[in-house]
Amino acid sequence: MKEIILIKNGELALKGLNRSNFEDALIKNMKRRLKDLGEAKITKSQSTIYVQPVSEDYDFEEALKRVGMIFGIAGFSRACVCEKTIEDILSRSREYLKNVMENIKTFKVEAKRADKRFPLTSPEICAEVGAMLLEAYPHLKVDVHNPDRTVYVEIRDFAAYVRAEQIKGAGGLPVGTAGKASVLISGGIDSPVAAWTMAKRGLRLDAIHFASPPYTSPRAELKVRTLLKKVAAYSGTINLAVVPFTEVQDEIAQKCPEDYFTLIMRRMMMRIAQRIAGSSGSLALITGESLGQVASQTLPALVTTDSVADMPVLRPLIGMDKEEIIAVSRHIDTFETSILPYEDCCTVFTPKHPKTRPTLALCEEAEKGLDIEGLVEKAVEGTQYSFIE
Ligand code: ATP
Ligand code: MG
Repeated sequence: MKEIILIKNGELALKGLNRSNFEDALIKNMKRRLKDLGEAKITKSQSTIYVQPVSEDYDFEEALKRVGMIFGIAGFSRACVCEKTIEDILSRSREYLKNVMENIKTFKVEAKRADKRFPLTSPEICAEVGAMLLEAYPHLKVDVHNPDRTVYVEIRDFAAYVRAEQIKGAGGLPVGTAGKASVLISGGIDSPVAAWTMAKRGLRLDAIHFASPPYTSPRAELKVRTLLKKVAAYSGTINLAVVPFTEVQDEIAQKCPEDYFTLIMRRMMMRIAQRIAGSSGSLALITGESLGQVASQTLPALVTTDSVADMPVLRPLIGMDKEEIIAVSRHIDTFETSILPYEDCCTVFTPKHPKTRPTLALCEEAEKGLDIEGLVEKAVEGTQYSFIE
């Protein structure tokens, strides 16, 4: 039995005049994300996007799974392809709907005849399919007002389609339609969630990770790669920049007062990150900060980090509780990786009494001994790039 995936216009999380651009971007993203599963035609016709497998060995179940992770699709369905005769529609849908029908009590049928040459009218198609289902599954009743399931029959140009299942999509907007931003990614719980949240709003992602060998182990970087891979299952390919951060941290440890270590480190991260982000076309930075979560995330602390950033810093988790953040991280399957115990560069130099109410002036005073420009320059120069997909 041949199956296809159908995405209806009403099921795209899109609106307004840009719909056509969004649809084209979505189709492009879909093609890219499904291309290794075998040959398939992905087309748009009359406000519906079709994924039609061509090769025999097309991995349809994997395609469904991936479509469910593509932003811009609020819902979709799988459908059975029938010849455009009522006999074929009846015999195929009887078999195709078996699983669904056996698990419900009431249904109704809706038919749409886009090809007016089909000899039966829509009400006649509904009557025929409904009668067949009642006979094949005698426990069923028709309920036109509040059915457990609706069976849709559509007569299109080249074939007829029967479907009964509606699958929830990932929602959001197609990745890339909102431009590009760079996420500061640690190995923690928060930043992968922040990345996913912004990709969902249509941002393409680059990622920046600060590594401080030998204080941080190669396994910490591997963990970041694993996390990004999980995010990339939703966002598409991510360009990762790994920044050598050891020298910056050593300099801070030597030349700055301990109370300010974390804040100055975060200011240095911002300075370096925006240099890297700017040169790759990102328009903003993304962090996993959440108000009040730790000393460096109080409002006065955020003021001191924001003040060195010339580009917007997006903090999608700012108003979320840890519990809410964890729920998302479980949903996107990053949680188990995030809680692996490898040291992050932030934890290596945590001061005993971090400043929770710093002022900008005191911060600037505290970092006076640093050759800020030289350190930024060197870190950017030593940065290594790779693709995560
Ligand atoms: P996370 O769970 O994302 O690590 P956190 O609650 O542990 O966040 P911090 O360690 O203070 O908080 O980091 C705050 C934010 O700074 C992170 O969400 C991330 O965006 C960024 N960040 C922290 N460490 C790094 C790093 N090594 N490389 C890149 N960005 C980092
Ligand atoms: Mg962290």
